[in-house]
Amino acid sequence: MTARVLVIGEIRDGHLLASSLEAVGAARACAGPSDRLEGLLVGPAAAAASPAFAAAGLASVACVADAALERPTPWAWSRAIVAAATAAGAELVILAGTAAGRDVAGRVAARWEAAAVTGVTAIGRAPGGRLRLSRPVFGGRATQEVEVAAPRAVLAVRPHAFPAPAPTASAAPATELPGGTGPEGDGRILGFEHVEGGAGPDLGDAAVVVSGGRGVRAADNFSLIEELARSLGAAVGASRAVTDAGWRPVSYQVGQTGKSVTPQLYVAVGISGAIQHLVGMVSSRVIVAINSDAQAPIFRVADYGIVGDLFAIVPALTREVRRVRGIA
Ligand SMILES: Cc1cc2nc3c(=O)[nH]c(=O)nc-3n(C[C@H](O)[C@H](O)[C@H](O)COP(=O)(O)OP(=O)(O)OC[C@H]3O[C@@H](n4cnc5c(N)ncnc54)[C@H](O)[C@@H]3O)c2cc1C
Repeated sequence: MTARVLVIGEIRDGHLLASSLEAVGAARACAGPSDRLEGLLVGPAAAAASPAFAAAGLASVACVADAALERPTPWAWSRAIVAAATAAGAELVILAGTAAGRDVAGRVAARWEAAAVTGVTAIGRAPGGRLRLSRPVFGGRATQEVEVAAPRAVLAVRPHAFPAPAPTASAAPATELPGGTGPEGDGRILGFEHVEGGAGPDLGDAAVVVSGGRGVRAADNFSLIEELARSLGAAVGASRAVTDAGWRPVSYQVGQTGKSVTPQLYVAVGISGAIQHLVGMVSSRVIVAINSDAQAPIFRVADYGIVGDLFAIVPALTREVRRVRGIA
């Protein structure tokens, strides 16, 4: 039997997010040869973004060019997603592992009477065809194996858990679905407040993160962290000691009361490795710690550790990265 999987793309500032391509990678990881993968894009930039989405290996992309869907509000998006999933006869809906994807997943599941699982890092089939999923729990200290008994499921995948498929030359058709989601009903956005973030990639989405802690000693010295991050094309993070001191805004904070990140590479500089920090970054693929105290707990989770003075190591590392990458 052919199963249908609907992958939801997310567009920000007119561009399809890389994490949406990872969601297609997740769909391909669980699809059989006869399964059909379809995409859905919503908002005014849907049609423009559809070729890049389709090129990830989708059989078709449905577009809802409704301006009311530009921002991923759970109430309006869930209505559009459930309508598209029903029209496609889908049994599985997969969303990117962004804050919006996780937010929307629950609402879609409730509306569509489906199971919802977020933070998914592996997808397979159990005997009998049921979905079998893995997701990290307890801040990445354990992995939960979930078997979905419901006939339908909504998944939000963990950032960087699935590779984005290499683009194909596919010219999958883009179809127009009607908009008209009506009034927003149970919620209305009153406005947006700009949250100051670091230069470079988004912290929650970045493949490389460089974070600084109290070891940098002063707000001005944090530029050392930012220069290393710039040389690596990385996002900048911080421990709570840094944000509490007001050296950088709270939007930089990684950890229990900050952001959870799962980059390919996490560089922790002058961060001791308190449990509240670890829960936000311990699932990173490779962890590098720079700390003058060889007993610092961060070294227990680090793949590579450098024991020494960050004020000597970080500028040298930045120079070397710039030299290797040919940055003037
Ligand atoms: C409810 C609650 C929630 C919390 N949530 C978070 C959270 O979300 N995120 C978070 O990060 N914390 C959180 N915390 C705080 C957490 O417990 C730690 O206090 C905090 O992470 C410590 O930050 P730090 O590692 O930068 O500072 P410290 O623990 O002071 O560590 C500084 C490190 O820098 C090293 N160092 C000093 N000088 C140098 C040098 N010259 N070169 C190299 N290394 C040097 C030291 O050896 C030390 O290991 C929370 C705490 C509570 C109670």
